[in-house]
Amino acid sequence: MKDLVRPVVAGNWKMYKTISEARNLAAEVVKQAPAPSLATIILIPPFTAIQEVKKTVSKSGILVGGQDLFWEEEGAFTGEISAIQLREAGCDFVLVGHSERRQFFGETDEMVRKKVQAARQHELRPIVCIGENLEDRKNGQTLNKIKSQLENGLFNLPEEEFRMVILAYEPIWAIGTGQNATPEQAEEVHNYIRQLIASRYGKNVSACAIILYGGSVKPANAFSLIKEKDVDGFLVGGASLKAESFLEIVREASRSKEG
Ligand code: PEP
Repeated sequence: MKDLVRPVVAGNWKMYKTISEARNLAAEVVKQAPAPSLATIILIPPFTAIQEVKKTVSKSGILVGGQDLFWEEEGAFTGEISAIQLREAGCDFVLVGHSERRQFFGETDEMVRKKVQAARQHELRPIVCIGENLEDRKNGQTLNKIKSQLENGLFNLPEEEFRMVILAYEPIWAIGTGQNATPEQAEEVHNYIRQLIASRYGKNVSACAIILYGGSVKPANAFSLIKEKDVDGFLVGGASLKAESFLEIVREASRSKEG
């Protein structure tokens, strides 16, 4: 896959949308989406709707991702889904380590590491979520948390594989709460992530890395966040469930290209 056009805006539909609802939402997004030369759009529906969404967006330049995967290729793992299955259904991306997976399903950095490797073995680009909780932030532990998540979950990857990873900084206290990080708070962490990447993989890899912000992104705050130097796009939850708000965020994000 060639380099992605920035901004990159991904919509995580979580456990919302039946197949027909997903088809309708994807069709609305296709109808009103800006040209692929202005932004990369990734839709991340529930597993049941991936194939239908892929069919709906075909030829539009819009891309599709899964919300999770298991690291084995196949086997007696009831309820799980493999990279091969996601690929065949039409995915080019997969979310890994979303805070809801870490919080409700016990996902650890070690599991994130295995999932990222499995994704790369089958040419899926992982969108890896990292971020601190409110307690970490209050205790001044935000940057330490980010560092340990990157070191334990990702920095084992060889350079050519790491280049295929998209990072999503998602402060847990901002997800689904309506309370986004300020542009300054987001930039501080994004810049720190870029520095850590530079010291592990070098300046060139660091400059190319795509680092999304996620956590209560809305049309009203998207432009102020995207203007920050190290914010390359968004991972959007709630506001991606309606075409209108999702596309407004995409448009606000691509305005940053206008200078
Ligand atoms: C998310 O689920 O990754 C997310 C950022 O959700 P929301 O936009 O609703 O905060």
